[in-house]
Amino acid sequence: ESLINRIAAGEIIHRPASALKELLENCLDAGSTSIRVTVKDGGMKLLQIQDNGCGIRKADLPILAERFTTSKLSTFSDLSRITTYGFRGEALASISHVAHLSVVTKTKTETCAWKAHYLDGALVEGKPGQTPDPKPCAGNDGTTIIIEDLFYNTPTRLSALRSTSEEYSRILDVITKYAVHNPKVSFVCKKAGSPSPDLSTPSSSEIPQAIRLLYGHSIAKDLLHAAFSSKKKPEDEDEDMEEDSGTHDRESWAAEAHFTNANYQSKKMIFLLFINHRLVESSRMKRALEAVYSGVLPKGASPFIYLSLQINPRDVDVNVHPTKKEVHFLNEDGITDQISDTLQRSLASQSN
Ligand code: ADP
Ligand code: MG
Repeated sequence: ESLINRIAAGEIIHRPASALKELLENCLDAGSTSIRVTVKDGGMKLLQIQDNGCGIRKADLPILAERFTTSKLSTFSDLSRITTYGFRGEALASISHVAHLSVVTKTKTETCAWKAHYLDGALVEGKPGQTPDPKPCAGNDGTTIIIEDLFYNTPTRLSALRSTSEEYSRILDVITKYAVHNPKVSFVCKKAGSPSPDLSTPSSSEIPQAIRLLYGHSIAKDLLHAAFSSKKKPEDEDEDMEEDSGTHDRESWAAEAHFTNANYQSKKMIFLLFINHRLVESSRMKRALEAVYSGVLPKGASPFIYLSLQINPRDVDVNVHPTKKEVHFLNEDGITDQISDTLQRSLASQSN
């Protein structure tokens, strides 16, 4: 059974950067304004994420790394995550099957922090005579997740990894993208033992400033901005359409985009797509936007596009397994068309 769990976990956690993505989402979900990542050997030896979010209640620690279970669903009070990041309850469970996982956490109401170790979905049992986890310790409000020896028990996963420097650059890439999307949050990433961070963002910035800091001035000086939504917002509806409001709500969506104009030309397209604040991939959306730019850029030149889309969570395919990178949602073609249209008009009016 543990082998099956391990294989399943390896399907969710492909590499250090995919573990990190899950953990970053947890930190952001916990309302953190500061997230500090420490990495050793490309995240294979150590991946540590410290946040200043709401912390985990001591009572929740025993089942923290359990697979998605009803007990977990009912125990964890914050069910709003179902509508934000989508509840799967699998990240920490999966990590505990393929690495050594430790958690140090403190909520505001707790007088000290608590530390717990996990293995294969459960708290590590202390040695006989010792107090079992979680153990009290010193610590600030918030949570630190420590992942050590990733894939120590899954040699196929381990051998599929690239060099530590390549894994590290993937880690930096994930943090960079989340830092653009969350400009009010300060992100720091450094190698263990290194005095200076490789990535550091201020808190309370704005998206264009974050893009400038993280992707460079050449992108930032050629940025356009568009914010738009489905034609009709629910509050614009007539009173007598009240009965229908459920359906209208389903179809409402909003998007915000920051994208380069025709002056900017990159060799490779940089595309950051967030749907309901989750970094996702959509080759359909990517192709459509590429096509828009093929009208304004010379052959071989590509844009930078940041796109944040908010859709009713019911319309996003929550069944999409994390292994399937591609996201799907209701009215994908209609929404993609409308976004393409808006970008096209914006690019056209800018070049006039
Ligand atoms: P999911 O995010 O799908 O619920 P996870 O395994 O990623 O599943 O996390 C399990 C639970 O642990 C979360 O629902 C959350 O309540 C809690 N949690 C995880 N990380 C943090 C964190 N950094 N801060 C506060 N709570 C956290
Ligand atoms: Mg999670």
